[in-house]
Amino acid sequence: MTGHVAKLPPVRGRLLENVPMAQRSWLKVGGPVDVLFTPDGEDDLMSFLAACPKDIPLTVIGATSNLLIRDGGIRGVAIQLGKAFSGIHFAGATIAAGAGASCAALSEAAAKAGISGFEFLSGIPGLIGGALFMNAGAYGQDIAGILTQAIAVDREGQRHELSPHAMHFSYRQSQAGEGFIFTHAVFRGHPDETSEIRARMAEMKAKREATQPIHEATAGSTFKNPPGMRAWELIERAGCADMRVGDAHLSPLHRNFMINGGKATAFDCETLGEEVRRKVQEKTGISLEWEVRIVGDAT
Ligand SMILES: Cc1cc2nc3c(=O)[nH]c(=O)nc-3n(C[C@H](O)[C@H](O)[C@H](O)COP(=O)(O)OP(=O)(O)OC[C@H]3O[C@@H](n4cnc5c(N)ncnc54)[C@H](O)[C@@H]3O)c2cc1C
Repeated sequence: MTGHVAKLPPVRGRLLENVPMAQRSWLKVGGPVDVLFTPDGEDDLMSFLAACPKDIPLTVIGATSNLLIRDGGIRGVAIQLGKAFSGIHFAGATIAAGAGASCAALSEAAAKAGISGFEFLSGIPGLIGGALFMNAGAYGQDIAGILTQAIAVDREGQRHELSPHAMHFSYRQSQAGEGFIFTHAVFRGHPDETSEIRARMAEMKAKREATQPIHEATAGSTFKNPPGMRAWELIERAGCADMRVGDAHLSPLHRNFMINGGKATAFDCETLGEEVRRKVQEKTGISLEWEVRIVGDAT
């Protein structure tokens, strides 16, 4: 179907119609998004939101490394922040980054500048906006621990400056405000030797490569770890290790990572996840909560 763009306000950035997501998404599944909007800057995003008819659904996507986009695709407009939001600027040990910068780029830039605290971001394959929303973390650190301010734009196009407190961070989530789109963030690290920072990053990389299927089509940890427990252990204990649905299965390297073997649909992946949840509940009495965010229509 075409003609969606005609209903939308004019923008400086890019509006693409009927964009198939299967090839663009990390899990390599997902139907088309009606319109994919890449704003050309915060003002472009704000004026678009202010004028966008309120009955048009909006979805924010980052690098899609934590998303399961259903086979029917995403109705309305998906907003993805790109190059215009990828700047990284330093003032001493304070770093301002656009929400379209990658976690890896921020980590690398901080290492080069001799600022520690960002090492854990080096292997997280998302963008800063997604990391803010998910309170991304690894190896005992998370975004909540380094953030000093986040900037967001709401559905009406109003700009908000948010303190870490206003982000309402908890394990793998923030609850800043309904429909907020993060555009920038300010972080604080501390000075250290670049060589020592790089050594820690290399150690984390080696650990990750040995324990996670980082070169496969996946969306990271499928389920949140329940308090004091590990989701992968519960999955193994419930006898789900070798479960598969269609071409979707769980990684032998890490059973909490779902893998698309190449031909899986979003339906296969979601069905596998729900089947694992059902079995874990039945065998252990524990209800696993999806960490992967599921968006879009089934058909
Ligand atoms: C191999 C692999 C390893 C991973 N390892 C880790 C890990 O160690 N730790 C960890 O925490 N995660 C990990 N992940 C998951 C994922 O990389 C993180 O959750 C990441 O922060 C998601 O960022 P993204 O840009 O890909 O967001 P997406 O997956 O595109 O979106 C995730 C959520 O964030 C929202 N969102 C995205 N951008 C914005 C924005 N600008 N404003 C408001 N909301 C927004 C989306 O609406 C969605 O709900 C891993 C994933 C993979 C594939």
